[in-house]
Amino acid sequence: MSDFATRLIRWQRLHGRHKLPWQGADAYRVWLSEIMLQQTRVATVIPFYQRFLARFPDIASLASASEDQVLACWSGMGYYSRARNLHRAARTVVQQHAGTFPGNFDDIVALPGIGRSTAAAISVFAFQRRCAILDGNVKRVLARCYAIEGYPGEKKTEAHLWRQAEALLPARDVAAYTQGLMDIGSLVCTRSKPKCTDCPLQIDCAAYQGSRVAQLPAPRPKKVRPEKYSTFLLLLNGSDILLEKRPGSGIWGGMWCPPQTDDSQDTRAYCERQFGVDAAQAVALPAFTHTFTHFKLHITPVYVQVDHKPEQVHESGRVWRGVDDALFMAIPAPVRKLLQEIQAKRVLA
Ligand code: SF4
Repeated sequence: MSDFATRLIRWQRLHGRHKLPWQGADAYRVWLSEIMLQQTRVATVIPFYQRFLARFPDIASLASASEDQVLACWSGMGYYSRARNLHRAARTVVQQHAGTFPGNFDDIVALPGIGRSTAAAISVFAFQRRCAILDGNVKRVLARCYAIEGYPGEKKTEAHLWRQAEALLPARDVAAYTQGLMDIGSLVCTRSKPKCTDCPLQIDCAAYQGSRVAQLPAPRPKKVRPEKYSTFLLLLNGSDILLEKRPGSGIWGGMWCPPQTDDSQDTRAYCERQFGVDAAQAVALPAFTHTFTHFKLHITPVYVQVDHKPEQVHESGRVWRGVDDALFMAIPAPVRKLLQEIQAKRVLA
């Protein structure tokens, strides 16, 4: 076993995390935790994980739920494609694996939303297999310890990191080793201000020994994020708000949002044409920005109080909901923020 693995396993046993709710759990729970942890920190994941399990305690209950129910339960976590894929994968497990989560790596990685590293983590923790992982934290640790140049998101650098991850994998104690890598990456070898003086890998670490910690891994090459603009039409009838279901794929796929127009459209004419309402009294509220991975969305909420629920909106994919109830629907974060402000009467004061 390499010194790297020996030190990591010893450190994990003494200082690593041992009481996470999914540790030692069945494959469904391990899978769910790995998906939730993909873009979210442990402390944030735990309450969502518990809430999700209370609602969907097993694969069968998840598979038989509607996508709307799954998205509503995921609401607040962001990156909703994870929830859609989780739901699709549960249905695949029911249809193709008789409802039992598969234990074979190739079957796991074939499920929607599961990449190589996630499949490896599930294989290690749920099935005690010997597989290398390479998530964002592990990339950082390896890039620093072995002075691997290049941005880890680039194919060539990633391939180098995978080779390193495979080469370091010990013959035994793979679960402790893998958990150790995850723990070191999130607790010690953090993106900024890593705690090198507390790190068991210090002696092996090329970045530390060469005073290059701040330069490794190489940052993402700078790209200007495109900017988009959207108007959110907050059509209210009393305390009921009009929401539309978004198309199944793309940003906020399958979630509920207020009707949107882009900047090129005349809001008043749009409201008349689409909903048969007079928006002469529309009030533009302060704009705000929501940042996605690939672009920035500048949102201008426009508040329109209507005195009746017009005929045009009674079609599938559109609903009137009390603002209090709407907060329990599958809604993205900026919509939640707006509804909470409406609920607190901040935007209407
Ligand atoms: Fe990371 Fe510092 Fe440990 Fe190197 S010594 S692995 S840079 S925490």
